[in-house]
Amino acid sequence: MDEADATDRSMEMINKANLSNSHRWVPEAVPTGDCLFCGDVVMPPRRWCNSQCRDDWEKDYAA
Ligand SMILES: [Zn+2]
Repeated sequence: MDEADATDRSMEMINKANLSNSHRWVPEAVPTGDCLFCGDVVMPPRRWCNSQCRDDWEKDYAA
């Protein structure tokens, strides 16, 4: 068994997991029927009433 090879394979699996996670929204961003930023009514699956609210919300959560 080549230990270096085994390490490369596990790193590759971790990288793939990170890549697939990066395409998901964070768990808090679930459609509730209200804009997650300002609280206005929106139709699911929308989570914000406009892109400005989404951008501001993302800024808050990226901090
Ligand atoms: Zn809004």
